[in-house]
Amino acid sequence: MRMAEVEVRLKRTLVAHRIFKSYKETLMEEKCGVFGIKSKVDKPLAQTVYYGLYALQHRGQESAGIVVNYDREFYSHKDLGLVSDVFSQETLEKLPEGNIAIGHVRYGTTGGTLRVNCQPIEVHHHKGNLALAHNGNLSNAKKLHKNLEASGAIFHTTSDTEIIAYLITQHRLKEKSIEDAVSKAMNDIEGAYSLVISSPTKMIAVRDPHGFRPLCYGITPDGDHVIASETCALYAVGAQWVKDLEPGEMLVFEEDGVISRKEHCNTKPKRTCIFEYIYFARPDSKIDGISVHRSRLLLGKLLAKASPVEADIVIGVPDSGLDAALGYSAESGIPYGIGLIKNKYIGRTFISPGQEDRTDKVKIKLSPIRSEIEGRRVVLIDDSIVRGTTMRRIVQMLRDAGAVEVHVKSSAPPFLHPCFYGTDIDSEENLIACHYSIEEICRLIGADTLSYLPLEALKEISGREDFCAACFDGSYPTDI
Ligand code: SF4
Repeated sequence: MRMAEVEVRLKRTLVAHRIFKSYKETLMEEKCGVFGIKSKVDKPLAQTVYYGLYALQHRGQESAGIVVNYDREFYSHKDLGLVSDVFSQETLEKLPEGNIAIGHVRYGTTGGTLRVNCQPIEVHHHKGNLALAHNGNLSNAKKLHKNLEASGAIFHTTSDTEIIAYLITQHRLKEKSIEDAVSKAMNDIEGAYSLVISSPTKMIAVRDPHGFRPLCYGITPDGDHVIASETCALYAVGAQWVKDLEPGEMLVFEEDGVISRKEHCNTKPKRTCIFEYIYFARPDSKIDGISVHRSRLLLGKLLAKASPVEADIVIGVPDSGLDAALGYSAESGIPYGIGLIKNKYIGRTFISPGQEDRTDKVKIKLSPIRSEIEGRRVVLIDDSIVRGTTMRRIVQMLRDAGAVEVHVKSSAPPFLHPCFYGTDIDSEENLIACHYSIEEICRLIGADTLSYLPLEALKEISGREDFCAACFDGSYPTDI
């Protein structure tokens, strides 16, 4: 295709993809974090959950919430915003001491940014209360929603988490225990779900049978049981990691201890989201025993092997490109440097006061260190390229800072398919690799060269193949 045609298509695509969306909107966003704690005695557990949610803030910035179970009654506080916006010392102190507390940070993938969608959600039925925090998306949500509505259900939220709550409640009316009801609901739902549930007397943690999203269990020096999306949140509250839940496993925390139920284990192939390792999770976390930081280093090394280039410096896009950049440098021998600085104080909720200056948002968030860039051939590593809009601006920023060459490398393969399991890449329309060849994308983002991690290299993260990589290879683990 001639350059002029590429430029015309670019212009159309820029409009179609609304390229001038905010910086936040050009990134693939993490999708929800859950946290729960069960103690033998009543304690100020809301504070502990607060610290846990703080450690999980990277998984969702739209809303935060905590539900405390005191003497079988639920007390909650939840709202739109970051954990630090939603909770103050005063709001935390207003929540009573209790023996179970669960919390949630949300980035809405279905349902939109509405206060009513804040989690944990609470439902009341004639056998008691239920509070539920969910990370993931159901791939059969529409069908279930329709069936439930046809049977008389009235939904108060637009989130698929309420579907899970409804199903558990329906089964609870017939089953002898809450864990039996949860187990039955797991037969109905498909897709990604890591759940933390509080009943009047029990805390229950569940990981879906494919294990799409992470979920781990730890114990504090006081003997309190802690559940979290990532190990970084266990350590933030002083808990020691005990195990990651197996796909399909349910842990039931009750007065007498912990029971592991595995009736859903091994009923489906394990398919943990590979993008947790590439981007979603915090580098200091381990998922299923695999270090996220080390995975990213390895991806950088594999990228260097697959696409060598002559250059003077390797830099990463902060924060999630830094580890892969280190790996690329170690393998290639090209010195690693800090070439871009991120404004730590801008936060994810930054909004522009005007419409016209949207292109400046990347500049406000990131700035180049001219002394490291000027006159140099730069290898620029990012974790992935979704729409290409942010990368285009960063490349221009480096050129403006005096880079003589910019070689862009993605530590993920090209996104060619939407995700239905709890991320916001829900349409091929938004994926630049669906519309252009690598050569064309390279021109569109203004780089000298562009390379992606080869698909086969992903398997090297653990030497296994039990990952979901559907957004790269189109092989969906469930019916869509
Ligand atoms: S489709 Fe991609 S982002 Fe979605 S769960 Fe699978 S690997 Fe993760």
